[in-house]
Amino acid sequence: MSDQENWGEDDDNDPDYVPPVEIENGHVTSTTEDDSESSDDDVPTTSTNGEFNTDLPTAHKYLGKLKHVSGYTLYDDGETLEVLAIYTTTMVFPGFTLPLVMNNYSEMSVMQTYIEKNSVFVLICANSKLNGLFEYGVTMEIFEAQVRNNALHIKAKGRQRCKLLGELKNWGGQLKQVNVKIMAEPEITSPICNTQMYTLKRLRPYTSKNYCDITKNYKYRRYHLCQYPIESWVYDKYEVSYYVQLLLEGLSNYVGEYIPSDPVMLSYWFAQNYLLLHEERLHLLQLNSALERLRMEYKFLKRVRTIRCSGCDVEISDPTKVFAMSKDGIQSNYVNPGGHNYETVTVTSAQNFQLEGKPSKQFSWFPGYAWTIMHCKNCGKHLGWRFTSSTSKPYCFYGLAKGGIKVDIEGGWHGTKLRIFTAIFEETRGTTFSRDYIPL
Ligand SMILES: [Zn+2]
Repeated sequence: MSDQENWGEDDDNDPDYVPPVEIENGHVTSTTEDDSESSDDDVPTTSTNGEFNTDLPTAHKYLGKLKHVSGYTLYDDGETLEVLAIYTTTMVFPGFTLPLVMNNYSEMSVMQTYIEKNSVFVLICANSKLNGLFEYGVTMEIFEAQVRNNALHIKAKGRQRCKLLGELKNWGGQLKQVNVKIMAEPEITSPICNTQMYTLKRLRPYTSKNYCDITKNYKYRRYHLCQYPIESWVYDKYEVSYYVQLLLEGLSNYVGEYIPSDPVMLSYWFAQNYLLLHEERLHLLQLNSALERLRMEYKFLKRVRTIRCSGCDVEISDPTKVFAMSKDGIQSNYVNPGGHNYETVTVTSAQNFQLEGKPSKQFSWFPGYAWTIMHCKNCGKHLGWRFTSSTSKPYCFYGLAKGGIKVDIEGGWHGTKLRIFTAIFEETRGTTFSRDYIPL
């Protein structure tokens, strides 16, 4: 079986092995990377039980040690800015990291001049029809930057959503000068907050990150709400913590360990990580509050999905095989020395592929792992990479590039076929509503 070939092989131990220096993570490049910069020999790649250190991919150490830029910039709601925008094919949500390598001279020159005075730029991407700019983007704060090997290496973190007001200038390539309006995250509140007596607010908080905390006070909540004509459970449908619990429950089969429980972070974690269509992610980016995003994400979670080759539709994997190799989650952005940015999802097993070349550790996104290029067995499309290690667990996994795969939803974009979850709240609440009834 082709996916078992070279299982766990460490090319450093093979005396006949010649590293394929001309191929870097699937792209041809003429640069010869200094191994001392891309390796992480001084960083432990595994814990004592052999498990891979998942902090390493989030640090993007394959880019080497870059100059640190300090600062944390948050703008006020509604503030307008004139900023540099980078147009990419991938979207990074607030809280997540974008690695960039710029090797185009004119782009580098514009970017270097800009970052001498500013550390914040805006990331924008294509609209759902792929024929123009999407009207929302994310402010990105540069925290590391350095020119090396005639290329500008940047790491930036997503900060706030913003709305594109207009394009002022096209600098060429992927750079634009734009006007944006900041869309700050609204305070999380509750449908009953303005009707609760002030003295009771301190005793029985109406908002809570944990839905169980609300259910503990449920008797008092019902006393409070009995003055209104609508059933008390209807108000729950507008509580953020209700959807946090639903999503955490639904995601527990996939990757329970690294999922944040903070409502805002969870809403962005899902948008960044879950296997979504481009249209679905754009839809989430334009929603203004964590409640709106979480509610829509629960709808997206219920859609039945498969991972297929984008060239010929053959099935490559499915969402139950997805797992986290990085603290950032199951889906992260990585960049190769040629400057190509890959959004990559990690899965434990895959099918219908063939491998090309020998494993290489050069510029590996997962320190200690060797990568081998994967192609579709059917049509030859580049799917991603198989990663193998003889020392770190898991010994083998697959990084699927978003450009090589597509997410297929049964029932199409409207997703008529839904995954069924069992109800969990009826017992604790003594009500009979179905959790699948969600006002959308
Ligand atoms: Zn194919």
